[in-house]
Order: sequence, then C-alpha cells, then structure tokens
Amino acid sequence: MAAEGVDVFVIGGGITGAAVAMDAAARGYRVGLTDRGDFASGTSSRSTKLIHGGIRYLPQFDFALVREALVERGLLFQNAPWIVEPLAFVLPLYSWNRRPLGAPLTLPFGIGAGAMVEAGLLTYDLFAGRYNVRRHQRIPIAEAIRLAPGLNPADLTHAFVYYDGQTDDSRLTLTVLLTAVSRGALAANYVEATGFQLSATGDIQAVRVLDTIKGRELVVRARHVVNAAGVFAQRVEELTGMPSNLRIRPAKGVHLVVARESVPMGPPHTAIVLPETDDGRLLFVIPWEGRVLIGTTDTAGSADIDGPATTEGDVEYLLRHCNRYLRTELTASDVISSFAGYRPLITHSSSKAATARLSRGHAVIDGPGGMVSVVGGKLTTWRKMGEDAVNRIAERDGLPPSSATRQLQLAGTDGWREAQTELSEFSSDVRSHLIRAYGAAATQVALISRFSAKLGGRIVPGLPYLKAEVIHACRAEMALTLADVLCRRTRIVIEDLDQGSKVAHDVADLMAAELGWKKAEVDRQVDSYLQTIGEEYRPR
Ligand SMILES: Cc1cc2nc3c(=O)[nH]c(=O)nc-3n(C[C@H](O)[C@H](O)[C@H](O)COP(=O)(O)OP(=O)(O)OC[C@H]3O[C@@H](n4cnc5c(N)ncnc54)[C@H](O)[C@@H]3O)c2cc1C
Repeated sequence: MAAEGVDVFVIGGGITGAAVAMDAAARGYRVGLTDRGDFASGTSSRSTKLIHGGIRYLPQFDFALVREALVERGLLFQNAPWIVEPLAFVLPLYSWNRRPLGAPLTLPFGIGAGAMVEAGLLTYDLFAGRYNVRRHQRIPIAEAIRLAPGLNPADLTHAFVYYDGQTDDSRLTLTVLLTAVSRGALAANYVEATGFQLSATGDIQAVRVLDTIKGRELVVRARHVVNAAGVFAQRVEELTGMPSNLRIRPAKGVHLVVARESVPMGPPHTAIVLPETDDGRLLFVIPWEGRVLIGTTDTAGSADIDGPATTEGDVEYLLRHCNRYLRTELTASDVISSFAGYRPLITHSSSKAATARLSRGHAVIDGPGGMVSVVGGKLTTWRKMGEDAVNRIAERDGLPPSSATRQLQLAGTDGWREAQTELSEFSSDVRSHLIRAYGAAATQVALISRFSAKLGGRIVPGLPYLKAEVIHACRAEMALTLADVLCRRTRIVIEDLDQGSKVAHDVADLMAAELGWKKAEVDRQVDSYLQTIGEEYRPR
C-alpha cells in the first residue's frame, strides 16, 4: 500500500470496512484497508450474530430499516448460503406483559398484545417478500413448550414462531475481507491510522499509519479515504485536526454464554425471545454452536470503549430476566464466558433519547478533509453500507452508482456443496463446523489436517476445532496473535469451559512454527491472551 498508493483507503476492518473494501475492489478500485487491531476485533465479533430484520424495530415504526435488513438477510442466504443458517424463534406472550417487543404504548391488562404481535409478524413476512426465510405461525401453547421446553408455562397466553438467520460474525467479516482480497484489495491488521497529510486546501492526500507490531510508521497516498471505524469514527475524523460533525452515541451490549444443559432448549436451530424487559426491550436466548447465548443489554455510555467488559450488574440483569421467563434458576456460576461490544449509534448532539430507541440505520457522511464516513447500521446490512459508501466515491469520480455486489458470491461459496463430500473422514460435528466456518475452503483445512495425526486432532476435546485450523489461520487468514486464533478465527474463547486457557500454550507453539516466534514470544503471547480473557471475556 505504502509503495504504490491506493485509490480507496479504508480505515477499520470490522464488517463495515470489509464491506467497503469488497464493493470498491469489485468495481475495480485499488483498495487498501487497515485495522488498528485484528480484523473484527471491535463490535463485529461481539454481536448477537443474527442476520435479521429486527422485529423490535417494528413497534418503533422503523419500517425502512426492517425492510432493508430483510432484503439483505435474503441476499446473504443467496450469496453465501453456507455461512448463514435459518433459526426459528419462539415468541411467547404472558398475561403480565404490558409492552411486549418495546411497544410504544402500555397495553391495559395486556389486551391486544396477541393481535399486535400477529400484525407485526405479518408485516415482517410481507417486507421480506420473496426473500423470506419462512412465514411466521401462531402456535398452540403445547407446541410452544415442545419447541422451547425451557419456557415457564404459567400465565403463557399466546405463542408465535418466526424465522431469521444466524451466523458467526467474525467469520463473516473475514469472509467478506477475503472476498475483497480475492478481487485485488490489500488488507493489513495491526496497522493504525494515526493522522493525515493534507493539501494546502485541506484535502486529504495521504494517510499516516503505524504498524503496531513492527513499530514502523508509513504513509499511504490515497485518492479517497473511507472512515469505517465504528464507535471510533468520530475520533478518526478528528485526526484531521478539523472538527467532526459526527455524533456517535455508543451503547454497550453484553452477552452471556451458558451450557446447553443449563437451559432446556428444544429442537436444533430453535431460539427463544423474552418479549419484555424492565427497560422496555426484548432479549434472546439462542443456541449458538455448542452453547447458549443470552443477550443483550443496552446501556448508554462509553467508559470502557477501548476494552468492553461485563459487569456484575450486566450478569444480574440478564439472569434475572431469564429466570423470570424460563424454568431455570441460573446463577453467575452457570456463566461460561461473556462478551461485550459497543453499538455505533448515530445521533444528533441534542438527542436525549434512550440508546435502545435510536435508529440502527446507517449514514454516509462527508467528513473533514474529504473523507467519507460510513457509520451506524447493523451486521445484517453490511453489504448495503459498503455499496452506499462506494457510490459516494463513484459520484465524486463522475461514475454511475452500482449494485453489483447484490449478486456477488462471497469467497468460499463456489464449490461449497462439493466440498462437503471431501470431508468424509471427519465426524459430523467437525464436518459441519468446517463448512460453516470456511465454505469451500474447508478442503484447504482438511488438506493441512492430513499432513499429520497431530494436525488432524481437536484443539479442545469436545469442540469441533482442528489444530489444522491454527495453521490455516496463520497462512491464509493473517492471524498474527494468539488471540486472533482463539477469539476470532475460532471462537474457542467463548465456547470452551476454560476459555482456551489450558490449550493456549499448545496453540501458541503451533503458531510459533508458522510465524517464527521464539520461546519468549510464545510466553508473551500466552500471557497477553490470559490477560485479554480476564478483562474482556469473563464477568468482572
Ligand atoms: C451487543 C451487540 C449486538 C448486536 N447484534 C447484532 C445482530 O445480531 N445483528 C446485526 O445485524 N447487528 C448486530 N449488532 C450491530 C453490529 O454488530 C454492528 O453494527 C457492526 O458490527 C459494526 O461494525 P463496524 O465495522 O461498523 O464497527 P467495528 O466492528 O467496531 O469495526 C471498527 C473497526 O475500526 C477499527 N479502528 C478504529 N480506529 C482505527 C484507526 N485509527 N485505524 C485503524 N482502525 C481503526 C477498530 O479496531 C475496529 O475493528 C450488534 C451490536 C452490538 C453491540
């Protein structure tokens, strides 16, 4: 990047930056992207992992957002069917619910709640149109208990089932980036944008970056700069030395991870909606890989924005609501791990609205020095965010807008069905994990695993991750630290009962052989990983 300069320089390697890089590369721009940490190390590995329209935005009458997200959900099923799975949601209503799904009005005695939810789910199906996963149904109480045996049957008056999609957010981000790279984009993690070189008229001509691993400073000439730094977008605009008009209201969201045995779940791919919380929102209880995710909170503020942590209060809030709706008596000792992330919500400086009420829509904004900032949005709407940002650049270049990525298959899609037949030596949990994580590239992992019995073995007994994936992550996915492998290339940090601490040394040794680490570096990587899990993946 520094040697030749780029047409489009993207700051931030979360899902938004990855989407911009993919779209720009697909249009033939020479693209460079950097993230100051690992790809997806920000919010894009800390979401609920739903590819959804968002039923809770219906009572807020945010119809355009819901419709847009439902179309994008459909496009992901079309362009990378291996990375997103349909998920059924059982939505119960209890006689004591007064404002289910965050309804704007309190329903006296809950009267009309069933009809309101039915109308909402009908609208959801209609908005999805030909992109729908499956139509919602009103179901008898007995069926609701069969699908969600964890539900408390007392006072349960209505039940529905509707459908959305589920993915692995950090694997999705990597896949979008790999798609960009396959189209010629250059990407670098651990490279922070630290400033800009401006022309006499105040236009950005180049980006100053710091390679935080090697400690090198470089300058990358760029015709266009896209700021996709999520909750840090305002800070990035201010690096120009000019004021920023962006107002981001960070809102923290926490998830807890518990064992499947802790919450009686029904058939596979069936989640539960807890329809009303004390602060007027809803919560999800979701089967994810071998575990159950409970989330999320929504609290304004940005105290720990550089290292989001879970507090005792967050744990108490989530468990209290679970125990209210479910036949469980979950306590903090049931929590295997937790993770927190910040929503990059856009607001006007004068807005006093609760963060839960701020729109999840995105915006493309002309920033200082001519940079294009793309902020807000959802994991689900990534493709459209990339498209809208690059359309702004195309407009400046006098080029027509394009929606070419609507049909663009993501890396790993071509040949993914055939790849399944080449994985017959693995047990079924490993097979389906490899396909969900890599699509057709699962065969590359399989190839490495055949090199030795050791590489074909599991990293953690009982979890489907292979040691070969560590090698693949270093060779093909730019893993540079132990946390890159255990937190984002695999999700061992949130799934493993020991959060990967017992295997950290083994994994670091495997990486050492690939990356040329000496013993001291292996020890440093392990120490740094253990510190990260203590600070960010366990309740404090
Ligand atoms: C708790 C929670 C649950 C959510 N659940 C869902 C869901 O289920 N479905 C859904 O659709 N959406 C969901 N979302 C929303 C979605 O996760 C976010 O909108 C999305 O991940 C934001 O991506 P991003 O790329 O804009 O930001 P980020 O992922 O935060 O990426 C920004 C990147 O910029 C980098 N950066 C910052 N400064 C610099 C710099 N100076 N130089 C270089 N790089 C820099 C950061 O390191 C970071 O990696 C959820 C959000 C939260 C918080």
